[in-house]
Amino acid sequence: MIELLQKLIQIKSLSPKDMGCFDIIEQHLIDLNFKCERIKYLNVENLYATIGDKGKLFCFLGHTDVVPTGPEDKWKYPPFSATIDGDLLYGRGTADMKASVAAFIESTKEFLDSNDDLNFRLAILLTSNEEGTANDGFIDKIIEKMIADNEIIDFCLVGEPTSSEKVADCARIGRRGSLGGHLKILGKQGHIAYPEKIVNPILLSGDLISKLNNKIWDDGNADFDPTSFQISNINGGTGAHNVVPGELEIIFNFRFSPESNEESLKSDFESILDELKLRYDLNWDLNGYPYYTENNFFKDIVSNSAEEITGYRPELNAKGGTSDGRFVAKMNTEIVELGPVNKSIHQIDEHIKISELWTLKDIYKQILINLNQNL
Ligand SMILES: [Zn+2]
Repeated sequence: MIELLQKLIQIKSLSPKDMGCFDIIEQHLIDLNFKCERIKYLNVENLYATIGDKGKLFCFLGHTDVVPTGPEDKWKYPPFSATIDGDLLYGRGTADMKASVAAFIESTKEFLDSNDDLNFRLAILLTSNEEGTANDGFIDKIIEKMIADNEIIDFCLVGEPTSSEKVADCARIGRRGSLGGHLKILGKQGHIAYPEKIVNPILLSGDLISKLNNKIWDDGNADFDPTSFQISNINGGTGAHNVVPGELEIIFNFRFSPESNEESLKSDFESILDELKLRYDLNWDLNGYPYYTENNFFKDIVSNSAEEITGYRPELNAKGGTSDGRFVAKMNTEIVELGPVNKSIHQIDEHIKISELWTLKDIYKQILINLNQNL
């Protein structure tokens, strides 16, 4: 498992490129008698592997792409070297999420070795663009095709890094939605010494930002944090110190609970702009709806399996960013996300604890065993 993981980390599979990770994984799965299919959509490669011919469909969902490393010289070890230091394995994509992929393949191997009779169909769906943009193609088209072919996933385990302090202390049973926007506040450009002849969009943005920052969009609910609003970029100015620019750009994002929706957020946002009598251009970009798994069957399988291995039950919540679970949710699938500790994801010196990865592998195997006994 660790060797497989190191091989995967040594491949620079920056989103949306798989760069050969699937070739390695596919060979492991063919050896286990999986039927493998590659599905290419836009710039993205996807691997769909299945075994078994009867019963409900369980699918492990994962991705092989990684985010950029940032300055490589800031890393303790080169980010694609997969260096082991004591109990830690360093590298871009270790925690997010090549470790889960390696752990699931190992757990499947062990499970199939000791269980000849499968009471469910076991599938693995991997994409090479979880981290990138929709322009390169997400797995949504694959999911739509699966729905059209009546290949409906009943239970989905997503390997995203959901743990917070130690492995399996947290799992996700939902995710907030993500609504992005690009706002241009329009003013009037001119010489900084002639305030009567200019309209300064930078000064206009002051009241706006303060109102947006103080606004309570909703209160969330028992499983979801309240909707949060953030600004990621502000851009204004011509470069000259004596010119007031004609426009100011703001890039922002809502992470929203099911207590809000696309329409309510758009209209609340726009009414603040109108209240301040701003002139503006505004483009919206809905990146993902929230999803939530209500049924208890698969949630219990995962929680019980984790407890049998670790002695504690994971806290089930709907925190964190979006995940590809949002696309699978269209099938009314029971989805639970469980993976390694996420403290170092997307950061310099991303790493996982090797001992915890073996624990995660055991939990995944226990999930398969318990599914087989309960289906
Ligand atoms: Zn991920």
